[in-house]
Amino acid sequence: MTLTETLLAFAYLITGVLFIIGLKFLSSPAHARTGNTLAAVGMLIGVVATGFDTHIITWPLIVIGAVIGAPIGYFGAMRVKMTAMPQMVALFNGAGGGAAALVSCGEFLRILSGDQSSDASTLVPIILSTIIGSISFAGSLVAFAKLQELMTGRPITYAGQQIVNGLIALTIVGLSVALVLGYLTPPVFGGLVAAALILGVLAVLPIGGADMPVVISLLNSFTGVAVAITGFVLNNTVLIISGTLVGASGTLLTMLMAKAMNRSIGNVLFGAFGAAPASAGGAASAGKQTSVRTASIEDVATMCAYARSVVIAPGYGMAVAQAQHAVRELSANLEKRGVDVQFAIHPVAGRMPGHMNVLLAEANVPYSQLHEMDEINPQFEHCDVALVIGANDVTNPAARNVPSSPIYGMPILDVDKAKAVIVFKRSMATGFAGIDNPLFENPKTSMLFGDAKDTVTKLAQAVNTV
Ligand code: NDP
Repeated sequence: MTLTETLLAFAYLITGVLFIIGLKFLSSPAHARTGNTLAAVGMLIGVVATGFDTHIITWPLIVIGAVIGAPIGYFGAMRVKMTAMPQMVALFNGAGGGAAALVSCGEFLRILSGDQSSDASTLVPIILSTIIGSISFAGSLVAFAKLQELMTGRPITYAGQQIVNGLIALTIVGLSVALVLGYLTPPVFGGLVAAALILGVLAVLPIGGADMPVVISLLNSFTGVAVAITGFVLNNTVLIISGTLVGASGTLLTMLMAKAMNRSIGNVLFGAFGAAPASAGGAASAGKQTSVRTASIEDVATMCAYARSVVIAPGYGMAVAQAQHAVRELSANLEKRGVDVQFAIHPVAGRMPGHMNVLLAEANVPYSQLHEMDEINPQFEHCDVALVIGANDVTNPAARNVPSSPIYGMPILDVDKAKAVIVFKRSMATGFAGIDNPLFENPKTSMLFGDAKDTVTKLAQAVNTV
């Protein structure tokens, strides 16, 4: 081993360690920022070290890539709205999968020119990385288009869809076998790339726009696997480590999200959730007559100001309304009056993992006030007022007691066990699952209709004048 190779291996080792520590830190909101910085430093070391590895690439290409890519990444991340984060992640993920596939295509061209071995040990990783990377690239772009509303967000289904997808998958297997058997020609390889891209598009079309965060997480794990395999092709340790970390964490996140939504991964991928309005048992309800009680800002201000404990359960509506700062102000004003205020965070509240944590952290709500579902649920029965701010499905008691409900079995926040419940939303419209919420008709519940930012801002002021 030369000195350069030793230093390179050492730099990659440091990169890998920083990625792992960074990931570990990301598991707590208190350390997440530090974790992100550590992982970014690791990435910088990895990129600079790669620049010294002349077998891979030359400095000018890295500089050109950075000059083009860094401003896009920087300004994209600075300008993106919090509610548009899932599609941004989809784009970045697609770029990763596409990069892995392109590197493998480059290696295939090197095989054709005789610069690279055509042994099965080299060819098989090239083929796998090309397939997985292409599926992830194309699928992520469709996910982006759905979430960005460049196309319909509803599931697109047609008769024989699974059969068509199955045939394309078989074509991919056939072309891969042909390549391994020695038919190393551009048409065969090009056909493989095209088939994988088409499969990526067709596999994501039948998935509903709001299921996309789960799919993006799954595609993210695909990208990780593609990158790790590319690492074997290029004999590059840092790609193997980082790809494995992304693959493993993406898989775990996908499984956790599916579990929190009480859905199987198969149901997310093939269930076409949201293709048609939900039927009886989870009846679609917009426009249905319901008997609900309404409350005024003054009523709610009085209830909260004289409560001993208030638990706030935020959801997607808080994100849409950008009400997190008003919520923070409300919480601070109540605390000034001696009220104990805690936040109940459901794992799939909002539209992406950690959505509520990110918004509340942005509004400087102390981490010690944020409680995960399992931790806060036993406390609801001791709570005087539960404020449900833009949350719907994650508080729906039908998940506990209506076996025919599409969300039956999904763990929920037990807000209905509080002494009084106030629901902040604009109308009787349903949430993501498109189903009635019996909580709204519970005698303990009062609805405070209006945009959450507006109602919570007024409430925050009103509690000071009670
Ligand atoms: P929901 O989608 O169930 O409900 C959100 C509610 O917010 C709506 O009923 C809506 O009612 C209200 N709302 C919208 N805009 C405003 C506004 N400006 N002011 C006040 N209220 C508003 O959200 P939840 O957070 O309760 O549940 C999340 C759902 O998303 C779950 O079903 C989950 O499975 C799903 N999901 C979550 C993912 C995640 O990773 N977090 C990923 C994929 C899906 P109205 O229109 O009447 O105001």
